Amino acid sequence: MYDLIIIGAGTAGLSAAVYGVRAGKRVLLLEEQVYGGQILSAVEVENYPGIRRISGYEFAENLYRQATELGAEMRYEKAVKIREEGGEKTVITNRSGYACRAVILATGAKKRRLGLEREEELTGAGISYCATCDGAFYRGKDTAVTGGGNTALEDALFLSGYCRKVYLIHRRDQFRGEERLVRALKEKENVVTVMESRIIRLNGKAHLESVTVEHSRTEREEELLVAGLFIAVGQEPDNRAFSDAVRLDASGYVEAGEDCRTSRAGIFTAGDCRTKEVRQLATAAADGAVAALAACAYMEQSSWQ
Ligand code: NAP
Repeated sequence: MYDLIIIGAGTAGLSAAVYGVRAGKRVLLLEEQVYGGQILSAVEVENYPGIRRISGYEFAENLYRQATELGAEMRYEKAVKIREEGGEKTVITNRSGYACRAVILATGAKKRRLGLEREEELTGAGISYCATCDGAFYRGKDTAVTGGGNTALEDALFLSGYCRKVYLIHRRDQFRGEERLVRALKEKENVVTVMESRIIRLNGKAHLESVTVEHSRTEREEELLVAGLFIAVGQEPDNRAFSDAVRLDASGYVEAGEDCRTSRAGIFTAGDCRTKEVRQLATAAADGAVAALAACAYMEQSSWQ
């Protein structure tokens, strides 16, 4: 029997684990893939208060060590359901089931797909969702990035150091990412911005060879010869497994306010998987602390009753 089970070992989940174990609780972290979450693909983090500069990998590694050295247990299993009987919760995984008093959903979000024909087939054969993981394969080649947020801007900047040319394709006439990144990109001679344009076709035999874009104003089509396409069009949550345990919004995010309480007593949520305005590393860590302390307060209260 655990006090607290945290589903997802990204920044939010690991931060919650740090607060949970420091409050004296027996904490289990369940992770389907690798610990660290999305920050693993950040080359450099320079907006986490108190840390001037750190790689995403090092940040994740430090946080994982901090949580586990303090006493959090970790299992690599996929949580598929939360069952509740008489106030006791059981998290069912693909391998087993674990009883606990409170749960924190920190499932994060996954990279959104463009939804184009051949996108799945060419993933790993020219299409990637992680510039820092795959960028080096495209050294000296022409590539494209699509998206207009911080991820797309950072990916284009990162790739400009490896690639001969980087097309940055965005559907609107303005980026939504930070001005600082937009300015840095303007200084890169090998980055070409293709605004108000969408990719409508992915071309190539076994490997991506080009993308066809449609310019929205003129409806003109243009073929850009690229060996790689990095898709950075945001994220989507995947909380379907928990839709009968807690209320989700229309996009699938767990409904919760800044107190990280869900529609179900004893189930809390933290990080990118919950409804919120700002999805940043600092807010994921903050959510972890808030959710863990709320879970501790819930356990205290329920032990009096
Ligand atoms: P995002 O901010 O949601 O931006 C997604 C971009 O993709 C938007 O520009 C959007 O266009 C575009 N898009 C969405 N669906 C599309 C489609 N089907 N076809 C073409 N374009 C599409 O996502 P993100 O850049 O991954 O960032 C996610 C969160 O992480 C944000 O809160 C961001 O600030 C944060 N983040 C922060 C940092 C940092 O602080 N250094 C780094 C990375 C990410 P529209 O603009 O037209 O909507």
